[in-house]
Amino acid sequence: MPELPEVETVVRGLRECIAGKTIKDIGYIAPHLRKLNLRGFVKRVAGRKIGSINRVGKNIFINLDDGAVFMVHLRMTGQLLFCFQNSLNDPHNHLKINFIENGEALIFRDVRKFGHFIYAPANKRQAWFESMKLGTDALKIDADGFVELLRSKHRMIKPLLLDQSVIAGLGNIYVDEILHRSKVHPKKLSSKIAPRKLREMHARMQKILRLSIENMGTTFDSFSGVNSEPGRNQNYLLAYNNAGRVCSLCGKRKIKRIVVAQRGTFICTNCQRI
Ligand SMILES: [Zn+2]
Repeated sequence: MPELPEVETVVRGLRECIAGKTIKDIGYIAPHLRKLNLRGFVKRVAGRKIGSINRVGKNIFINLDDGAVFMVHLRMTGQLLFCFQNSLNDPHNHLKINFIENGEALIFRDVRKFGHFIYAPANKRQAWFESMKLGTDALKIDADGFVELLRSKHRMIKPLLLDQSVIAGLGNIYVDEILHRSKVHPKKLSSKIAPRKLREMHARMQKILRLSIENMGTTFDSFSGVNSEPGRNQNYLLAYNNAGRVCSLCGKRKIKRIVVAQRGTFICTNCQRI
């Protein structure tokens, strides 16, 4: 599932490709997405210009010049792809926005169909954003805020970091990487982790996320940027999906897969003790 670095990669690609462009029409919209959109949205967006594009956690906001917004959540396999209007159709393409400029288009492709593509007009966007109940973005939270937030909770650290209403943007891959490199067991209670350790974890989180953005995200199967290119960060993961490989921090034990809060979790039992 795309997490913060993958979504940021998509957002940066969108800024390059579609910011400032004018919507000609909606080429098509799949029936399963229609229920997520307001009646008449196809008519409303024709002629509108794309404004700024931003991200909170794993959510993409494509702002239109009339104050409306498209909110996209890629979930498991969603992709936003920049292409030409006359490019070949694909049964997994579910929505197409055609632009006036150069016959260009943006496609929402989603093999497993869990992704969201929602339109909210200007007068509904605030209420709708608030209903998402997102915590502070993982790249925006500062060290003091991070320490205070996690010390105030009495929950296992891994599910806590995965909770989008606490910190937005982290998923299974990056939480495993952050905890492994910080040498913290995923089942440890957040309130029992020393502030000094939480500060270290915050610094590692920033570093791990920024490195992955530089690498255009992690691709295991379907993730790609708007230009259809896969990311390269899978080559830099030390714990996630590395079961059986010798831990590169201690060199003593092999990375092991365990289950924490129903999620497959990769740890070194030497470095990460409860
Ligand atoms: Zn180790």
